[in-house]
Amino acid sequence: MNTSYQLFINGVWREGSDGTKVPVINPATEEIFAEVSWGTPEDAILALKAGQKALSGEWSTWSPARRGRFLTSVAAAVRRNAAELAQLLSSEQGKPLHQATSEVEDAARYLEYFGGCADKLTGMTIDLGPGQLDFVLREPLGLTVHIAPWNYPLDIFCRSVAPALAAGNTCVVKPAEEISLVSLALASLFQQEGIPAGVLNVVPGPGAVLGKVLTEDPRVRGIVFTGSVETGRKVLEAASRNITPVISMELGGKAASLVFVKDASELDGPVGGAAGAMAWNAGQSCGQRSRWYVRRDLYAPFLERVAERVRSLKVGPFTQPGVSLGPLASKKQFDKVMSYIRLGQSEGARLIVGGGRPEGLGEKGYFVAPTVFADCHNRMQIVREEIFGPVITVIPVDSLDEAVALANDSSYGLSSEIWTSDLTEAHSVAARLDVGHVTINGSAAFGFEVPFGGVKLSGLGREGGPEAILAYTRLKNVWINLNRK
Ligand code: NAD
Repeated sequence: MNTSYQLFINGVWREGSDGTKVPVINPATEEIFAEVSWGTPEDAILALKAGQKALSGEWSTWSPARRGRFLTSVAAAVRRNAAELAQLLSSEQGKPLHQATSEVEDAARYLEYFGGCADKLTGMTIDLGPGQLDFVLREPLGLTVHIAPWNYPLDIFCRSVAPALAAGNTCVVKPAEEISLVSLALASLFQQEGIPAGVLNVVPGPGAVLGKVLTEDPRVRGIVFTGSVETGRKVLEAASRNITPVISMELGGKAASLVFVKDASELDGPVGGAAGAMAWNAGQSCGQRSRWYVRRDLYAPFLERVAERVRSLKVGPFTQPGVSLGPLASKKQFDKVMSYIRLGQSEGARLIVGGGRPEGLGEKGYFVAPTVFADCHNRMQIVREEIFGPVITVIPVDSLDEAVALANDSSYGLSSEIWTSDLTEAHSVAARLDVGHVTINGSAAFGFEVPFGGVKLSGLGREGGPEAILAYTRLKNVWINLNRK
């Protein structure tokens, strides 16, 4: 495995201009296993200049079909290097290998999906009457900036870079401070497959410093941001300086899951869903089902079965076989989740299982045992705020109306779900949930082919699906006078 990573600017690997290198820590062992160069504001400007220059270089001669084929070839390279990428992702982010492998495949699918969209973009003509021809061109926005978080670094990179490139834009990517190696490894595959210099640039480094430069620059014609609400507000403010379009903002979530199956014999699905909400990415997912509203007659058996299932989850480093969940990605996240667990207890929630470090893993590693709080209510901070860890809250409810009202009583609106065997109930709840994404009888329907994004504080815009790529284009109207003498 490579142990020293550099910035990728204008097709060249380089140190940051002030020579800063930062150690990269394996969150399962707390050991340093690599180092990465960090960029400075000067490096961010170099990347922006490279991206802008590349718009009129070789890249502008590539047909949409060629751009599409190129993205498909990068997808194939990602799959050829899947084992190495997954190993690197697990090493720096902590998720078990099977989850890292799944994320690598997601990255390949985004590249493939939007590669397929590249030559499907069209403009239109508008009939204004005789003597005139009016047509609408669909053009790339130009230089785009992509600011990513640490929880799904490969997936989120490809989710926006793939449609941006498919539509003919150039990109500067700023990965999260803690987790940037996989983004750089991915950039090397783009390079290997022949991306022209400057079309894709990756600048790791301090978010507040680089983010400000990248989002305030007048050369930038589109910003994609995934991260916290607090940083999202700063990005919107910076973008307002030059009225730069914000293509999408995928912010936090506090997804609700409504358990309304017929009787306790149908609890397998929701119980598996609750365990998955804690195990997948150790709960560090924006769509994590963290609030469980359970019909009162199902409440006791649900809690009992979830506790039993959770006790069977194996927590540990990705190097151990059969691990269901790994450590949290960083010390910062570990401390944050532990403080929410203490808060839950002081708020009066009943701890059913978990509640601290798992036994038998020693003192090293940012491990948190999957934690279930029962007897919660919507006024508790652990129910209202995004914890972003392997913690769920469970709340008994007496009716579907009450469950929908409580689910919607959140400043977030990314996704939510219902477990039911009643089709009418399912449709009615899907219509009433104030979120961008609803799932019924399962939590895993995030995909490349479907629009994903939130309402309220969860953000704006949609990623994925055939319409997502349109946000990376702009329309230009052209009118011709056909009666010129
Ligand atoms: P964060 O807001 O701290 O950081 C996100 C990115 O912004 C990082 O690259 C960071 O370096 C950069 N940044 C920091 N300050 C900046 C500034 N002033 N200007 C511009 N960029 C700046 O978020 P995080 O902790 O990395 O990620 C966790 C959050 O992301 C959670 O709230 C989670 O719900 C959200 N998230 C949402 C989705 C989604 O699709 N909705 C997906 C993943 C994560």
